[in-house]
Amino acid sequence: MNKAINETVTSDFDITKVRSDFPALDQEIYGHKLVYLDNGASTQKPRQVIDKVKQYYERDNSNVHRGIHTLSQRATDQFEAARVTVQKFINAPSDSEIIFTSGTTESINLVAHSYVRAFLKAGDEVIISAMEHHSNIVPWQLLEQQIGIKLVIAPINHNGDFLFEEFKALIGEKTKFVAITQLSNALGTITPVKEIIQAAHAVGAKVLIDGAQAIAHTHVDVQALDCDFYAFSGHKIFSPTGVGVLYGKRALLDSMPPYKGGGEMIKVVSFSGTTFNEVPHKFEAGTPNIAGVIGMAAGLDYVSELGISKIANYEHDLLEYGTQKLLTIEGLKIIGDAEHKASILSFQIDGVHASDLGTLLDHQGIAIRVGHHCAMPVMEFFGVEATARASLAFYNTKEDIDALVSAITKAVEMLK
Ligand code: PMP
Repeated sequence: MNKAINETVTSDFDITKVRSDFPALDQEIYGHKLVYLDNGASTQKPRQVIDKVKQYYERDNSNVHRGIHTLSQRATDQFEAARVTVQKFINAPSDSEIIFTSGTTESINLVAHSYVRAFLKAGDEVIISAMEHHSNIVPWQLLEQQIGIKLVIAPINHNGDFLFEEFKALIGEKTKFVAITQLSNALGTITPVKEIIQAAHAVGAKVLIDGAQAIAHTHVDVQALDCDFYAFSGHKIFSPTGVGVLYGKRALLDSMPPYKGGGEMIKVVSFSGTTFNEVPHKFEAGTPNIAGVIGMAAGLDYVSELGISKIANYEHDLLEYGTQKLLTIEGLKIIGDAEHKASILSFQIDGVHASDLGTLLDHQGIAIRVGHHCAMPVMEFFGVEATARASLAFYNTKEDIDALVSAITKAVEMLK
């Protein structure tokens, strides 16, 4: 992060038009224009997504895969078309490898239960990194208690870089599974997932990538990565809450037992024995979040139209601008300054409690997140209880950063 401040931060898309697509951005909070910098927690939704969900409920609302009437057909067609949209978005070989879940957390738990619980045994090792979100820590800890797998933690340094050589040294014949974030929500670190996957595959271990943060900021190609599983949430990519995706390689999904039992995931149910549906339906028990899935397809289409590489370039310049502007504030320290970084500005200010800062910023119309960001171990590593975190999206601007810096300056004066 050592480029000179880019005072212009130009986008290859029409930022005014883009902002006008997001109705929630156009409001005042405590008499100030809203500056929304909490995209790591959840993103705002464009009108295209909102309209799609509204249209579904107004015209097509019905259950999927169950009825022959027109509404059910329309709902099913849109639901299955959304699967193809996701498939294309992450370049999965087949739409049967796309499982709809309620979000990243459920996707990871699905893999924990249907793959790791089913195929690993006591003493087998699962490697995660020191900067994982709780949802990529706790499912493995539960399995540690329940079936005796051993959780191994790959280290990071005090810049927040993932230490690849140290990770490689942890890999051995006991390593059976690796679960790693592609972009840390607490630090913004981008991890070398391709190299991690290659190293894990060299010993026959399978790899899950937590793409909750990465999906909206980097181009994801699951075939180029060669990951075994990829998890993400709709709400982090301008789509509804309560919906997410698990991609898994077909052969693995076929070999895995179901995770939840119920309707939709079966072929035949009988008291003498039940047979299961094909993937992906085997993992989609019960009525899914149909409106959420259809809305998510609209969200992914929106991002595809803007172009993920244009988004990444723009956000990269904005991150550098933000980093250098924040560092002009006396006593401010950025937590996480990895060489490869995206979208997240986590910081602390000497003598200022993060939650006080968050409240005073809110009173000036600025939405950021304060706290441990569901990554308590990484906070412990940096010796802090909480940070303030501004997280960027393509609709943020240099003016948003300037507003943040000036609001922090005011807040710090008030708190001193
Ligand atoms: N992993 C990471 C890196 C995240 O940032 C988050 C959400 N903050 C999650 C997992 C969990 O996502 P969700 O709450 O949407 O299931």
